[in-house]
Amino acid sequence: MRLAASMSRLGTESAFEVLARARALEAQGRKIVHLEIGEPDFDTPANIRDAAVKALAEGWTHYVPSPGLPELRRVIADIWGRERGIPCDWENVIVTPGGKPIMFYTMLALLEPGDEVLLPNPAYPIYESVVNFLGARPVALPLLDRNDFDLDLKDLQSKITSRTRLMILNSPQNPTGGVLSLENLEAIAALARKHDFMVLADEIYGRILYEGRHVSIASLPGMAERTIVLDGFSKTYAMTGWRLGFGIMDKELAQHVGRLQTNVVSCTAAFTQRAGIEALTGPQDGPKAMVEEFRRRRDVIVDGLNAIPGISCVRPRGAFYVFPNITKTGFTSRELERRLMDEAGVACLTGTAFGEYGEGHVRFSYANSLANLQLALESIRSFLAKATK
Ligand code: PLP
Repeated sequence: MRLAASMSRLGTESAFEVLARARALEAQGRKIVHLEIGEPDFDTPANIRDAAVKALAEGWTHYVPSPGLPELRRVIADIWGRERGIPCDWENVIVTPGGKPIMFYTMLALLEPGDEVLLPNPAYPIYESVVNFLGARPVALPLLDRNDFDLDLKDLQSKITSRTRLMILNSPQNPTGGVLSLENLEAIAALARKHDFMVLADEIYGRILYEGRHVSIASLPGMAERTIVLDGFSKTYAMTGWRLGFGIMDKELAQHVGRLQTNVVSCTAAFTQRAGIEALTGPQDGPKAMVEEFRRRRDVIVDGLNAIPGISCVRPRGAFYVFPNITKTGFTSRELERRLMDEAGVACLTGTAFGEYGEGHVRFSYANSLANLQLALESIRSFLAKATK
């Protein structure tokens, strides 16, 4: 098969590969605790499921406008305007099948080959994959545990050039659970205005926050027109399989992104968009209870990991991941990923799945029951006690 050269530059998400390996071991009768996949283990709240069933019965089974149902776009603009302080109306909002397409669509619309994109490292691997695919150049901004996984502003400033076109932010962050400080967001906004670059702010975990209030960089002065906010329903409402997300952006860019969507999928499924309206306007006790449960689990896994010799773990302030430092165990991140799966029955991801600065770490998702987390902690503790003797 003769493929386009760009295909050799397209990356992937190794979480799905690790999941496949874990399933193969399970098929042989092994018990594996799944801490590799980034999705809530809760069911989508009943009121949202009921709204989708009702929408199907009402005939929401046809094509709808490419940028999304106007009713849903209005609800999103209203809530994100009011609660996040982002100046926007419905024409700024594009509804997509999951938040992920916003990465591809907006980078396709903005980047030329050779453009530079500042992006956190470690980070969600799809950012770098898309940047490389388009022939643009990723410029890594290391996120280190000694900085509480926040950005180093001096490092950022030194990496801005005349080719810098876009900066990608993610807060709360996957894989570290870190949250960018308000001071850093303000400093980034000032740099974006001064050097005229755009910001893709991935705020998919914005409502899974354990302290303080989520601040969107798009709410800072002069930033709405140069920020693309990526958000969605997957994490907040446990709706990963529904494929429902959105972007909030400048209206002109929104029209081009809408046209890209016409070319790719025509539109997002109509009945899921109706359910999205219910998710945002119906009772919010389901998502709130989920965050409280995640907080309990976070504390159990952080305290449990810190009690294991060789592991030290920062207490994350958002999302549902921990990113402990494992250098003192003597294993590389990849070795530990493999051996924890094979010898301790715990599936996790090597920190390097998120970029080179993830070395020395592994990522555990704590979207699993307290009982399974306790089991995983005990298995990791006894594996390391034997393996590092
Ligand atoms: N952004 C980040 C940081 C993520 O971790 C994920 C999913 O894991 C996504 C975006 C994609 O979410 P969606 O299911 O809405 O496409």
